[in-house]
Amino acid sequence: MIDLRSDTITTPSSAMRSAIADAIVGDDVYHDDPTVNRLEELVAGLLGKQAAMYVPTGTMSNQIAVRMHTQPGDSVVLEATAHIAAHEMGGAAHHSGVTLKGITGRLGVFDAEDVLNQVPVPHPSLPSYLFEPHTLLCIENTHNEAGGTIWPLETIDAATTTAAELGLATHLDGARLWNASAATGIDPARYASAFDTVSVCFSKGLGAPIGSALVGDADFIEEARRFKQMFGGGFRQAGLIAAGALYALDHNRDRLLDDHANATRFATTLSRIPAITVDLESVQTNIVYFDVDDPVIVVDTCLSEGLAMLVLGPTRIRAVFHLDVSAADTDAAIEIVRRVTETTM
Ligand SMILES: *Cc1c(COP(=O)(O)O)cnc(C)c1O
Repeated sequence: MIDLRSDTITTPSSAMRSAIADAIVGDDVYHDDPTVNRLEELVAGLLGKQAAMYVPTGTMSNQIAVRMHTQPGDSVVLEATAHIAAHEMGGAAHHSGVTLKGITGRLGVFDAEDVLNQVPVPHPSLPSYLFEPHTLLCIENTHNEAGGTIWPLETIDAATTTAAELGLATHLDGARLWNASAATGIDPARYASAFDTVSVCFSKGLGAPIGSALVGDADFIEEARRFKQMFGGGFRQAGLIAAGALYALDHNRDRLLDDHANATRFATTLSRIPAITVDLESVQTNIVYFDVDDPVIVVDTCLSEGLAMLVLGPTRIRAVFHLDVSAADTDAAIEIVRRVTETTM
């Protein structure tokens, strides 16, 4: 089976399993797990921040960030289809009591002017309490639903500077920041420098089995540990899985470019098939969205031929490239999609 449903489906290699088997562990709730502590130091360093907190999921990392940066009743400005808005089960409303103000981006990207237009500016003729405080700006890089698209650095800098001038804190959902950095050559720490806090995942393209990290100032992270515990994220001998994340950071960052090359070849070849529409501008890293008249028939038939993808909309199919998909697998996947669309569309 060639599985292109997500870059989360990777399984640990035998070398990663050996690192996991050898991990020295302790109780992370007591800060006693040397492997977790080493991972947190490494990730803080890679992102140029003072501290990092290892958590079970990217969702928990984002949710803790939103909780930390806001008070109930506040508004959060973000892209309308961002993971925090669309795929965290309404958690921002539930855990933090905030309203989300979604900006419709272009390929997932909006600019400083969009931020300015979202945030009410007090005027002497109106009482300030007619507008709830807008206290947080979130940016997602790469942007998942837009196709793994990359935010230009100058756009990030302008948007976060405007946000800071308006008094908003800034959070980067960098679940796939590693992909953005691999594609652009821009250091993850340079991206992170524009934000107060950053969330990164180890369980996506890097191929670790479990885990994400929230990074920021030491004081912020120390206080955030309270919410990790509150949200049920105190996970004891977590060094076992942190060892997988450490292995992934050491071995699997550079090879993300292979995934990008496979995604590009897949998308470009599919774009020449008449029954398929692909916006090649959206294919910038490891995610490919393409459209057909009947995605359910295409995906079901591909599955019976050994290729798994996701139906994500009335015409939309998603294919994601990752370390368990080789160049040869990519060629085989292209041939399956070609055959299936020619016979079913
Ligand atoms: C996957 C993902 C997350 C959440 O990660 P989980 O570990 O699956 O909770 C957050 N943001 C983005 C953009 C993602 O793609």
